[in-house]
Amino acid sequence: MKYAEQRREIVKACQDMNRRGINQGTSGNISVRVKEGFLLTPSGMAYDEMKAADIVLMKKDASHVGSRKPSSEWRFHHALMGKRPEIGAVVHTHSMFATTLSCLGMEIPAVHYMIAAAGGNTIRCAPYATYGTPETAANAVKALEGRNACLLANHGMIVVGPNLKKAMWLAVEVETLAAQYWRALQIGKPNILSKAEIGRVIDKFKSYGQAKAPAPACC
Ligand code: 13P
Ligand code: ZN
Repeated sequence: MKYAEQRREIVKACQDMNRRGINQGTSGNISVRVKEGFLLTPSGMAYDEMKAADIVLMKKDASHVGSRKPSSEWRFHHALMGKRPEIGAVVHTHSMFATTLSCLGMEIPAVHYMIAAAGGNTIRCAPYATYGTPETAANAVKALEGRNACLLANHGMIVVGPNLKKAMWLAVEVETLAAQYWRALQIGKPNILSKAEIGRVIDKFKSYGQAKAPAPACC
C-alpha cells in the first residue's frame, strides 16, 4: 500500500482527536501532504473502525484514488495545500470551546501569549457557509491568511502545520485558548495583549525549547 506510514499516522491522529476530547463522532477531517497530492480521511467513517486502506489519496487535479469517498471538506484541504506550499498537514475539528465561540461569530483575541503559535494576535472566525462548499473553502483560505489557525462560524476550527504532529499540537493549543477565553469572559473583561507583544512572542518562539523548531516543541 502506497504511503502506508502516513496513512497509519492519520488514522492514529483521528483516534487521538476523539480520545483527547477535541472532536467527537465522525466530525472533523485530516490531510497530510504527499508527493502526488495529499492523503485525506474518508467521509463519515467512525474513527475507531477506520483502517489505513480507507484513507483517500487526492491528486493535485482533485481526482482521488481509493475505495472510499473523500471527506466532504476536500475542497478546503485542496485549496490550502495548493495555495500554501509550506503546509504539510491540515486538521479540522468540531472541538467544544472553539466551536462555541464560532457559534457567536467571535474571533479569539490575544488573551494569552500562546496565541502566537497560531501565527498572529488573533484567530479569525471565517463567515458561515454550508459545509463542504467552495464558499467554505474560500472563507477558510481567507481567514487563514498569514495564520495557522482559524474558526469557522457555527462549525468548528481548522489548523495547519508543517507536519501532522505539529498541526495536532496546535489544534489542542487553539482549543485551550478558546476555553481560557470563554472562562475569562464568564467573570470579567479579559486584558488583551498588544500586537507588538505577540510579535515579540512570535520571534521568541523561533528559538524556544531544545530544537530549532518554528514553534514550541510539541511533545
Ligand atoms: P466528513 O466526515 O465528510 O469529513 O465531514 C465531517 C465534517 O466535519 C464536515 O465539516
Ligand atoms: Zn466540520
